[in-house]
Amino acid sequence: MESKKDIRALNKEELRNFFISQKDKAFRGNQVYEWLWRKGAHTFEDMTNISKATRMMLSDNFVINHIEVDSMQQSVDGTIKNAVKLHDGLIVESVLIPTETRTTACVSSQVGCSLNCTFCATARLKKMRNLNPDEIYDQVIATDRQSRLYQNHKLSNIVFMGMGEPLLNYKNVLAAIDMIISEDGLGMSPKRITLSTVGLPKMIKKLADDGVKFNLAVSLHSAIDDVRSKMMPINEKSNLADLLDSLQYWYRKTKNQITFEYVVWKGINDKKKDIDALVNYCKKVPSKVNIIEYNAIEEDGFKQADKKAIDYYVRELERNNITVNVRRSRGKDIDAACGQLANKSS
Ligand code: SAH
Repeated sequence: MESKKDIRALNKEELRNFFISQKDKAFRGNQVYEWLWRKGAHTFEDMTNISKATRMMLSDNFVINHIEVDSMQQSVDGTIKNAVKLHDGLIVESVLIPTETRTTACVSSQVGCSLNCTFCATARLKKMRNLNPDEIYDQVIATDRQSRLYQNHKLSNIVFMGMGEPLLNYKNVLAAIDMIISEDGLGMSPKRITLSTVGLPKMIKKLADDGVKFNLAVSLHSAIDDVRSKMMPINEKSNLADLLDSLQYWYRKTKNQITFEYVVWKGINDKKKDIDALVNYCKKVPSKVNIIEYNAIEEDGFKQADKKAIDYYVRELERNNITVNVRRSRGKDIDAACGQLANKSS
């Protein structure tokens, strides 16, 4: 038997045309589209303003592939980690992070990751496929529902910092973001969305050319090539100079400053030369730095640097008028913090 098509692979125009081909009104396509995206319906039966006959006709022709929150863990600090089951049974994770001022969803873009950063738990997962736009969008809908339920307000921000490298799933990530921004979807401002990348120069230039309005974060971790290459093998292919060139291009086109994510490890990047290199790098493109706490993963031998080294980073960056934030980890007790997403609960 031929398997039925996922109805959400159709865009609005295609859905309208489908209804015309069924001798129905194009407008019906708009109504169904609204159920599928803005209202996040999982079944055709949910579509209460659509006649029973039409709902049956739809289920004869299509399926609605949707994610299922397979398990949910709540941290003592309120962070919620979801193991999300995809229609083919694979699992990714997404995290809801409440703070006093905002609730942020951290979503995955791929199953596993191919980049092999030495300090990241996701890198240990072999399996890899790209998520579809609807699988990314659904993580946002699911965390938005949790935000309303547990925090009494809707989701305020989204970060693409879950599993995978979003710029290696460019088309689908951008399609998902389009839907998140669209009035047909969540109608969220792109200013509240941040895409985090390992730093792929070609794709960063493409983002700038495509005129995206969301924020860009780059996992830098070192501004010295040898050191960065050891932690992030991707740096051997595209080094810091190439990365900088693409970031300057991004800034010229978007006028949107870049956030560098930075972990300070003991004995790796905690010396004066590391700090000087970062300050120099930051001076070359409008940017700010988020120092993130290192979340230990099993047996990797890395240790967070001493507080003294981190304070020194902060002092030197501030002295050079570069904004720096030191971010505390959230959801560590449930392995929900940065770099800890590895489907352990599954
Ligand atoms: N591939 C993207 C997004 C996923 S990682 C990227 O690399 O940016 C999200 C962030 O968590 C990145 O900044 C990554 O460097 C950081 N990270 C990975 N492992 C970590 C760990 N064990 N402790 C703290 N941060 C980590």
